[in-house]
Amino acid sequence: MIILDFCRNKKIGVIGFGKTGKSVVDSLIASGAEVKIHDDNSINHFDVDEIFDAIVVSPGISILWPKIHLMIQMANKKFIPVLNDVDLFQRQFPNRTSICVTGTNGKSTTTALIYYLLRFADQKAAIGGNFGNPILSLDSAADFFVLELSSYQLESCNILGFNTAILLNITPDHLTRHGGMEGYIANKQKIFANFHEQSTAIIGVDDNHCLEIFEFLKTINHPCVIPISGNKVPKFGVGWKGDKLVDDRFGSHKVICEKNPVLDGNHNRQNIAAAYAACMRNEVKQESFRNGLFLSKGLEHRQEIIASIDGIQYVNDSKATNADSVEKALQRFNNIIWILGGRPKEDGIESLIGYFEKIRFAFLIGEAAKNWSHLLTKYGVKNEISGTLEVAVNRSREIAKNLNANVVLLSPACASFDQFRDFEDRGNRFKELVLREK
Ligand code: ADP
Repeated sequence: MIILDFCRNKKIGVIGFGKTGKSVVDSLIASGAEVKIHDDNSINHFDVDEIFDAIVVSPGISILWPKIHLMIQMANKKFIPVLNDVDLFQRQFPNRTSICVTGTNGKSTTTALIYYLLRFADQKAAIGGNFGNPILSLDSAADFFVLELSSYQLESCNILGFNTAILLNITPDHLTRHGGMEGYIANKQKIFANFHEQSTAIIGVDDNHCLEIFEFLKTINHPCVIPISGNKVPKFGVGWKGDKLVDDRFGSHKVICEKNPVLDGNHNRQNIAAAYAACMRNEVKQESFRNGLFLSKGLEHRQEIIASIDGIQYVNDSKATNADSVEKALQRFNNIIWILGGRPKEDGIESLIGYFEKIRFAFLIGEAAKNWSHLLTKYGVKNEISGTLEVAVNRSREIAKNLNANVVLLSPACASFDQFRDFEDRGNRFKELVLREK
């Protein structure tokens, strides 16, 4: 746990009492602060006229969009500083190395990979933030803090100034929460704010939003900007030529290694290029990176090949909750039985129409089923509304062989909350159903 010396004897309000809120409260109490909790879904509420030295918000609390939380409005009126747990950490340890990762997709994979590679290189590293444990619950003795930061967390970050900041990609996601695409981009871009002489900015240049931010960072004389790509070698950056990872940071191509077949696809190549750039700026030698990369296995629920039954692969991509991440799976596989649906997001699946010819049959589950069934039928994709994952898996098994399919792919393009606790619960259920009759 992180002790926050500057909070001793301060009166701090904490809004939101989920996993992050609880870790903030534990840390503040251990630091000798007076703590008061406000949670809309409990009996813990602030008094309207209460004064605090600071208010700490959880990622779920909107401080701007779609509507400023009532308690934040109150704090703003009284000029009470509003912070989050990442700010508290940065304030306590301004000189500790923080390697922060954001992007619409690939955050967890990249965060976990960097952590793995630092540990492989015998560095004392801790991992957390939006992935794993909240930052204030991490081991304060670590030299490197590898943190996944969501757009929600970045929205309420004030101090920033990370040593290594990584932005992988931007495609539409969480638009309602951020008041549209502009708000979403602005929050993602914040990861580079308040940079200092030792800062490194690593940025994917495979989409236009990030490309614009890259150009902007160059114009404001950021001390070290490294462009990275999953499908080319950017000048003075890191990327791929065929199956080879290439380092061009110093203006000439240097081949680093071949692809890792477990972490394949352009999306993973983008993640690996980012991890390489981060490692080279943070005490990992090339040799160690190379060896570590080949031993890394990727994370569960992300294009995870769980079984091969009668020549058909079963792939758990439950974490693919938006069209962009599903696209990466549809690019990678052919002759697909596709299981999709759940609680739909703003971006829908229209952007995937170009891949529909790869789909042999689709099974739809959850709230999105009816609408998406119409859409798939309109574009000539045979489909069935299964309702539940159980029915979808059973029917896939029956149909996959007849249709000569290569793969049964759960890649839902939807949030899971209509039928499952979270994407992990959905992915685990899929695995259970597939492996049950293996
Ligand atoms: P996040 O933490 O940003 O949600 P994950 O690493 O958990 O990202 O991966 C989520 C989904 O996105 C998976 O389906 C995965 O295959 C896909 N994905 C992983 N990396 C990328 C990337 N760089 N670009 C696009 N999609 C990706």
